[in-house]
Amino acid sequence: MTDAKQLIRPERDRFLADENPFEAMMSRFDYAAQLLRLDGGLYKVLRNPEKQIIVSVPVAMDSGEVEVFTGYRVLYNTSRGPAKGGIRFDLGVTLEEVKALAAWMTWKCAVVNIPFGGSKGGVVCDPTTMSASELEKLTRRYTASIIETLGPDSDVPAPDMNTNERVMAWVMDTYSMHKRHTVTAVVTGKPIEMGGSAGRREATGRGCMICTREALRHLGMPLGGAAAVVQGFGNVGSVTAELLRREGCRIVGASDVSGGVYNAKGLDPQDLVAWRQAHRYLSGYPKGERVTNEELLTAECDVLVPAALENVITARNAGDIKAKVIVEGANGPTAAGADDILDRKGIFVVPDILANAGGVTVSYFEWVQDRGGYFWSEETVNNRLTEIMVHSFGHVLEVSKRYSVNMRIGAYTLAIDRVAAVHRLRGLYA
Ligand code: GLU
Repeated sequence: MTDAKQLIRPERDRFLADENPFEAMMSRFDYAAQLLRLDGGLYKVLRNPEKQIIVSVPVAMDSGEVEVFTGYRVLYNTSRGPAKGGIRFDLGVTLEEVKALAAWMTWKCAVVNIPFGGSKGGVVCDPTTMSASELEKLTRRYTASIIETLGPDSDVPAPDMNTNERVMAWVMDTYSMHKRHTVTAVVTGKPIEMGGSAGRREATGRGCMICTREALRHLGMPLGGAAAVVQGFGNVGSVTAELLRREGCRIVGASDVSGGVYNAKGLDPQDLVAWRQAHRYLSGYPKGERVTNEELLTAECDVLVPAALENVITARNAGDIKAKVIVEGANGPTAAGADDILDRKGIFVVPDILANAGGVTVSYFEWVQDRGGYFWSEETVNNRLTEIMVHSFGHVLEVSKRYSVNMRIGAYTLAIDRVAAVHRLRGLYA
């Protein structure tokens, strides 16, 4: 059997196109800014992150050696409220990527109209090779290094790639120890026992499912029997696959960093999750044909859900995509150079800043519950999430029709208009 771990870097490298994610974000921003006739001053303000922090994070490793990791936290814009955005642990983290992700958080919170600005953090590391105790030390020292920016009213982290509830518990504890009292609302995506919200873990996937449902309804395509491919099988991809299956979709393909599996008759997402738990990676899963991630993206299907990394749909492969609908579970999965190709092919794209906004929406609910000290049932959380997602989808569609642009530019236009409106009201502090 192939050693899945050896596949990780080559597969990933094949994927990553040359496009800088911040420039990919900016090119869409510029398009929307032109449509809005954004005035020159505001245009300059919104093109720049408010704050960029770079820290060195020393950790005493299990071997006894000290390693020094590089960490970032970028606050892109806080005009609408406290900065909000996840922390990722990955070897591919760069300042440009964190800047792009922080900007996307700003637009995402504005698209779903929750009172947050946008931020993001990341540490350059390979968490798959680190022990739990090394990860805990890394998390705590990183949190302590950026503690001045953190706080329920200033900057509120959450999970992102390779971070989870446990990591959020360490962030919350470290912050609380420094403040000398427990502060639950400083971070979201926590375990339920310590102020987390019901439904948060599934929220991003649930939002993707709702967007798929709305997109197919809009296009007059039946959801029952629709064939879906989910690229990336982390928290977002696996939950999206399972929820789509429950809506009657056929999950014909799935993948993780080790590669993918395709079966036109349909795969069972729960069985895939069980295999992954037992074997760590999807590779070797026997009930389907083995395919690469690249092949999976261009496989026969109705709905494609890229739910892994940035820049996987590029000018190189966009022309070969067979899906009629793309629902972007990941942040920035489509390079700017692919947008026109997808438009020309008539593919309906639900952009990341709408499609994956379910996660931060329930993060907002978690923050509200922590601050109120009053917790909601999972049913209440899911109903409120559905309401916001359906409404936001409709709003983005309406803006995209008004300006005769695709859903992505519609979403940027809606978001930038909202952020700009607050800037005008607040004025410039001199
Ligand atoms: N990391 C998630 C995202 O990219 C969630 C962020 C949050 O909940 O603050 O949207």
